[in-house]
Amino acid sequence: VVDLGMPTRTVITTCAYCGVGCSFKAELRGDELVRMVPYKDGGANEGHSCVKGRFAFGYATHPDRVLTPLMRESIADEWREATWDEAISFVARRLREIQAEHGPGAIGAITSSRCTNEEVYVVQKMVRAAFGNNNVDTCARVCHSPTGYGLKQTFGTSAGTQDFKSVADADVIMIIGANPTDGHPVFASRMKRRLREGARLIVIDPRRIDMVRSPHIRADHHLALAPGTNVAIINAMAHVVVTEGLVDEEFVAERCEGFEEWAEFIARPENSPEAVEAETGVPAADVRAAARLYATGGNAAIYYGLGVTEHSQGSTMVMGLANLAMATGNIGRSGVGVNPLRGQNNVQGSCDMGSFPHELPGYRHVGDESVRDIYNELWGVSILDEPGLRIPNMFDAALDGTFRALYVQGEDIAQSDPNTQHVHAALAAMDLVVVQDLFLNETSKFAHVLLPGTSFLEKDGTFTNAERRINRVRPVMAPRTGKHEWEIVCEVAQAMGYPMRYSHPSEIMDEIALTTPTFAGVSFAKLDEVGSVQWPCNEKAPLGTPIMHVDGFVRGKGKFIETPYVPTPERSTRKYPLILTTGRILTQYNVGAQTRRTANTVWHPEDVLELHPHDAEVRGISDGDVVRLSSRVGQTTLRAVISDRMPVGVCYTTFHHPVTGANVVTTEHSDWATNCPEYKVTAVQVELITSG
Ligand code: SF4
Repeated sequence: VVDLGMPTRTVITTCAYCGVGCSFKAELRGDELVRMVPYKDGGANEGHSCVKGRFAFGYATHPDRVLTPLMRESIADEWREATWDEAISFVARRLREIQAEHGPGAIGAITSSRCTNEEVYVVQKMVRAAFGNNNVDTCARVCHSPTGYGLKQTFGTSAGTQDFKSVADADVIMIIGANPTDGHPVFASRMKRRLREGARLIVIDPRRIDMVRSPHIRADHHLALAPGTNVAIINAMAHVVVTEGLVDEEFVAERCEGFEEWAEFIARPENSPEAVEAETGVPAADVRAAARLYATGGNAAIYYGLGVTEHSQGSTMVMGLANLAMATGNIGRSGVGVNPLRGQNNVQGSCDMGSFPHELPGYRHVGDESVRDIYNELWGVSILDEPGLRIPNMFDAALDGTFRALYVQGEDIAQSDPNTQHVHAALAAMDLVVVQDLFLNETSKFAHVLLPGTSFLEKDGTFTNAERRINRVRPVMAPRTGKHEWEIVCEVAQAMGYPMRYSHPSEIMDEIALTTPTFAGVSFAKLDEVGSVQWPCNEKAPLGTPIMHVDGFVRGKGKFIETPYVPTPERSTRKYPLILTTGRILTQYNVGAQTRRTANTVWHPEDVLELHPHDAEVRGISDGDVVRLSSRVGQTTLRAVISDRMPVGVCYTTFHHPVTGANVVTTEHSDWATNCPEYKVTAVQVELITSG
């Protein structure tokens, strides 16, 4: 037993891992953080936490932290330490020089969903005001950008519809392409509580995730579809709803538009469960039974993850989910809805803050003159009315020689983005790569300047979780680097000649509230008084909006949109006969930059490849063997784990460790509307290298 003694100080703050956004009491003795205690009044977690938020905070004081700016002339050189003034002046001068030589559009930035709303806001402002272009994108590009697109088209706003509490009123829970027990553990506990009370469960996932079968929980239906066939399955469920007379006609007539055309499309024989059975691998009778349960089982709530969005039809699938919810009247009250489970702590916020090349804060298009005028007047600039480059376009333009400099805020794109070789070549082709991060990482191998960032324990600001809840992040310690991240960005902008000054991040939030209608009622003072609020928070809803689209959709009427199934071009072949899909594990987080530097590593020291017993046997592979995983774009080496969680022909890995680097094999395919990469479907071969 270790006697930690009584804390001398506590700070209420927010977990920096997943999109559940749990509140914690950080307990300190003197200046030492001794433990993180889940906060009982936290709006998202109500006193619960998981193994990441509770224990994996030691990375903040890990010796690998970079605390001083680093510079080098070329990526072949060794790093040398620099002063903040020297590094910031160099970055600003080189950005200006590159623009002078190659044009104003030759530079851009990527924002991080790990950073606060305020830190993200200033990056997109720097790009629009100091860079003079719209070349800003967010790492949400590679995860939930189809959510933003699909929900905006159908409902009118790019966010989930419910608060987490709402699950307590659900009679049917449908989980699609998400693994909540690993990815969103605290919310998974809320789901399980409701399931133990008797709610019914539908799981749509190629893999038999824990929620399908765990102590006290049994899914009523597990539709173990072939990776890449989501849209065929959801269309087939909607086909059953329409052709078996299960539509909520009153809701549709009063609240929606486009139903007749959509119903005619969805009722076509090619959308029936029988017609898609061979393609999806799911028996038609199971699809029919699941559709009937969803439509007639009472309040039905959809929860989905990256297994929906990271596909060539990610946006189509999000719209398909919205269609199904509208057709059955499962929108606008507690216990229903369409709910993206956001992976990172501030995915919602980084999107809300306008770090998209086509949208200003609050999801307003740069082509809208009335919106541009708000910022032009306040910032004293003239924002371009044409969208800028998305992340994949930046890489392509770098290889064309037209995009020459990139400022990366807290994202390890060289490990996390697909088709690693392509990303590395693009980064190597640039004249200047600036990385603002906690550690030297895979991306910094291509960088000329590293501007040290701050951990969540040093930040002062807000994160917005998956239920649109804006939570305060309060500093537990002063920035170990000597500078806040928002200050770094402001100083780069100023050194480029654009005046950008704030004395405190609350002033940045005040500017966000002044210019963004959905945030008009948000301030640090209010958050400190009431704990948290869910946007929209404004004059109409001064304490926020837990459930959206209650009396009407944000766009007026909910819009049915036809969602034809188009098979992914990524198909298994004789040379690459298996399909690889990817996901997360409870104890690790994304590229592992934080969790690998904590004791959590003992639970998951390496990424492994899960193989079905049949696929292993025909290859002579046993549990623990080292195997080569190859696709048409690359290959890597992992240890095999034999598991019957996947269907025959499907294998699975995580992406937390740079040594294995799962994205070495993922391809260039992406969502048609947003370019979100198709991480979830890669044709691969697996071969034995060495026995266990
Ligand atoms: Fe942090 Fe998510 Fe775990 Fe909550 S569930 S403690 S937000 S990682």
